[in-house]
Amino acid sequence: MSLLYVVDGGKQESSAPIVAKFGGTSVASAEQIQKLAAIVRSDPRRRYVVVSAPGKRTPDDKKVTDLLYLCSHVAHEGVDVKPTFGLIRDRYEEIARDLGVEGMTEILDDVEREIIAGATEDWIASRGEYLHARLIANLLDAKFVDAGECIRFGPDGLLDPRSYPLTNQHLQGEGLFVIPGFYGLNAEGKVKTFSRGGSDVTGAIIARAMDAAVYENWTDVSGLLMADPRIIEGPRPIQEVTYRELRELSYMGANVLHDEAVFPVREANIPILIKNTNAPEDPGTRIVQEREPDENVIIGIAGKKGFTTIFVEKALMNLEHGFGRKFLEILDHFNIRWEHAPTSIDSMSVICASEEMEGKEQQVLEEIQLILDPDRVDMLHDLALIATVGIGMAHQVGIAGRLFAALAEAGINVRMINQGASEINIIVGVEAPDFEPAVRAIYKAFVKEEG
Ligand code: ASP
Repeated sequence: MSLLYVVDGGKQESSAPIVAKFGGTSVASAEQIQKLAAIVRSDPRRRYVVVSAPGKRTPDDKKVTDLLYLCSHVAHEGVDVKPTFGLIRDRYEEIARDLGVEGMTEILDDVEREIIAGATEDWIASRGEYLHARLIANLLDAKFVDAGECIRFGPDGLLDPRSYPLTNQHLQGEGLFVIPGFYGLNAEGKVKTFSRGGSDVTGAIIARAMDAAVYENWTDVSGLLMADPRIIEGPRPIQEVTYRELRELSYMGANVLHDEAVFPVREANIPILIKNTNAPEDPGTRIVQEREPDENVIIGIAGKKGFTTIFVEKALMNLEHGFGRKFLEILDHFNIRWEHAPTSIDSMSVICASEEMEGKEQQVLEEIQLILDPDRVDMLHDLALIATVGIGMAHQVGIAGRLFAALAEAGINVRMINQGASEINIIVGVEAPDFEPAVRAIYKAFVKEEG
């Protein structure tokens, strides 16, 4: 494994620390935690280790966080929590025994006592990370620092920016630190969790607070792939992607990181490196501010099924004041969030996730008739959206031509086209059965074979 990382701009940084966050599957068992220990010890710059709660060991295993939510439910129903908490206790005791870590029984007893005494749901859910950070700090001979000391939420429930100086202050000194992910304290000083998967956000906040050279996010895949491997056989891995490209890809379903994890490090220009705990020598994916476009022009293809489009046609629509606003207001009135709104001279469509529309279709159509008085209105279900993303697409002639030629050659009927204002993506809407063939056609048209 390499001991030096080339950071942005090609300069080699040797002194700035590395924040290494390990996800649920990377800390699911004693065997996995041994891998974590080897990774952390292989580079002395890995000074801040952020851990998730133990995740699944096998596909049908239970995550500790899910068991804790169950415990909270059981406790708040007034039912005995001991049998449910027993599953969690067994999990930590087995890991501690296999790793030769002592002292977990007392900490588990304290947590159980608090749950019985009426702890809040967020407090209970956060204990998965808390307990694991205590255990792993003990194993690594590191200092445990509670996330409650570092991470604060404001009265609006959003991250309080004072978290950065506070974190920095609590992580001073020599040696290794282990910090639990997923939670902080709210404005009243009570434990509050991020949304699920939120340990990624904790890692990003710590990386920013400590001005890290890189934020490593250790997981169970070797980074992002250029397309979904369930559709494309052996898609090429993505070695480098910009934050903006990642946003576009993850918005369309390619998920490796919690959505909110990008912002703290992006603002501070700290690269994120997605790495595989089970294959640490794999290069992984670097997420950076800027990159040079490569031979493929595109960086990836992502997409999702399950969209509905409402198409409204009205002659001279473009001369009518507030037509688009009135259309969108109707959706707002029904509490429907929309994704895209492509228009042409006499027509406008709005695309939204089908679940947003569920049970409201008839009323929405009636309201459109009443308020917009259109010549025609149609609702099309089962639309799939595909985003083709890449900074290399901006200001390049012929990219759209290549894309549509590939789709036409594959006999695919394109129902919607939208190019993001940033010009780094082209989104096409196709009927659901055309989704996979369309992804394959685009991949083939743009991605060169490796080697
Ligand atoms: N353990 C929490 C969850 O399962 C947070 C995390 O793992 O990032 O959502």
